[in-house]
Amino acid sequence: MRDAIVGIDLGTTNSLVAWCDESGPRVLADADGVRMLPSAVRFVRGHAPVVGHVARRDAHLHRADTVLGAKRLMGRGHAEARSAAPELAPWIVEGVRGLAAFSVAGRALLPQEVGAEVLRRLRAIAERALGRRVARAVITVPAYFDDGQREATRDAARLAGLEPVRIINEPTAAALAYGLGLRGRAETVAVYDFGGGTFDVSILDISAEGDDVVRVISTAGDTHLGGDDIDAAVAGHLAARIVADGHGLDAASSAWRQALLDAAEGAKVALSERASASVDLALPDGTSWSASLTRADFETIIGPLVARTVACCRTALADAGHPQVERVVMVGGSTRIPLVRRAAAEAFRAEVYTAVDPDETVALGAAVQASLLEGRRSDILLLDVIPLSLGIETVGGAVAKILMRNQSIPARATEMFSTSVDGQVSISIHVLQGEREMVADCRSLARFEFRGIPPMPAGIPQIEVEFLVDANGILTVSARERRSGVNASVQVVPTWGLTREEIAGMERDALTHAREDMHRHRIADLCAHAALDLKWIGEALARVRDALDPAYVSDLESRAGAVAAMVEQGRGDAASCDADAFQRAKEELDRFSMPLHEASITRTLREHACEGPQVTVSGKAVRGTAEGT
Ligand code: AMP
Repeated sequence: MRDAIVGIDLGTTNSLVAWCDESGPRVLADADGVRMLPSAVRFVRGHAPVVGHVARRDAHLHRADTVLGAKRLMGRGHAEARSAAPELAPWIVEGVRGLAAFSVAGRALLPQEVGAEVLRRLRAIAERALGRRVARAVITVPAYFDDGQREATRDAARLAGLEPVRIINEPTAAALAYGLGLRGRAETVAVYDFGGGTFDVSILDISAEGDDVVRVISTAGDTHLGGDDIDAAVAGHLAARIVADGHGLDAASSAWRQALLDAAEGAKVALSERASASVDLALPDGTSWSASLTRADFETIIGPLVARTVACCRTALADAGHPQVERVVMVGGSTRIPLVRRAAAEAFRAEVYTAVDPDETVALGAAVQASLLEGRRSDILLLDVIPLSLGIETVGGAVAKILMRNQSIPARATEMFSTSVDGQVSISIHVLQGEREMVADCRSLARFEFRGIPPMPAGIPQIEVEFLVDANGILTVSARERRSGVNASVQVVPTWGLTREEIAGMERDALTHAREDMHRHRIADLCAHAALDLKWIGEALARVRDALDPAYVSDLESRAGAVAAMVEQGRGDAASCDADAFQRAKEELDRFSMPLHEASITRTLREHACEGPQVTVSGKAVRGTAEGT
């Protein structure tokens, strides 16, 4: 077997190695299942260097011998090094040929020698994960790297025993991770890369043909603006509140400062998902302090930092001649922040792509480039039809298909759903792919919580779920509650992780199980709808039993009891259920409950007549009800 070409994101803070086969690109994990390798190296006299998590974790104990952020000095001259990376000043010495070097463990090491240690570790991770020799790599560098910096990166690879078959720009890799540039579609995209310590934005011209399909037309950025600054801003806000609450702070203690920064980062990460986060801190004076930080406060605190990224976007746009950007690829952990996503979308007046893990996008794209060089490219990224149907989970574990397989892309479809429990304020939207009727037999693509539904009786909220697969094959699922306008969305690359054979296998399975699957789906729907009917009957009877003939009530209750037994049987063992008999019983119960309906309406009208006119709300789940939470 020929040795593999892997894709490597050699980052300032973290590095990753990825591989692309027919089922698409994936990041390779180490023996502990960890995919991200901190770009931290501790040099120990007479011993092999310590690379990665342990070096990062213990950096404060061995600060003099640990190199963090070697990439900042890669290929730079000694004269410019201090201004390029002032935080590294204590380690900077002059190396060979006037280059910047690190003084560690009694040696002067070039950044490429430090980078080589990280690459050597990535190579070992890849060889273990793939079970074969790895001697060639596509390595990414920032678009602004000059020839010297690129050459230094190549040297680092060679030192690690890797032939650098291609050095590609990080934004180009990010675009490739989404299959951009592979479909023969010409478009202009922006890559907004907001990581832990740096911000870069690039405008790319993706041409329909030619060898060099992705061209960087402008770049801008700030090499000292990132998630760390966000943490520092939040920490500053928390410190001010702690002081305002009458506590003293120990500004000199680095352990305390770190605890404050960790708390700030924890709150930041939580606020990417939730509207508020709680902060609990043990204070230096021995007391504890708790507070809550809302997303609105957080957005106010970080507004100026986000505004700086937007200013860079404007510069990049101006330098590129103000092209119409069609989409923005989001890269880097800080792009998980909702305000950052909104700001990027507004700056470019374009849709943002967030489907791929922002920490992995660059490595995945490097792996796609590697597979192209091997002539082994993943067709999966290039599908022009939806290969497997896409839908969401409904009550009872059934799948409501929304976009059908073999539909050509772009494609869009919407369906209405509702809640299954009174007062339900959130639903879990579970996006699935596959031809089978039940969740257990389909492939889970994504889940998201749709929160903020105003409390209403079950079945009343009107939740419009839209599936949109755009021309690049990226799926956006959005949900909107019609009355309140609350909305949320998630993005996925729906085709990753499956080979053509697996897709064919799933289709065959669906045919084999079609009859039994339809039955299970039908029973799940009957159970869901009958349960809502039974609930309503129970509530209505409690209100108007006195207005009805006791013989009618007893007959109704026994019919309802029979349907309830069918629901129980359907939920326990759908296969043994007679769907036609269940359907008939349910329909008969619907008809038989008409007098109850009338009595209930009469009572309502009478009550309202006393209270004055009121608007009545109506509405029903058009198709099943989404799974309640
Ligand atoms: P990167 O350099 O791309 O690995 O990005 C790391 C930065 O992303 C760090 O500052 C993290 O605190 C930040 N980050 C990671 N996850 C989140 C999140 N869910 N919300 C906000 N920031 C995050």
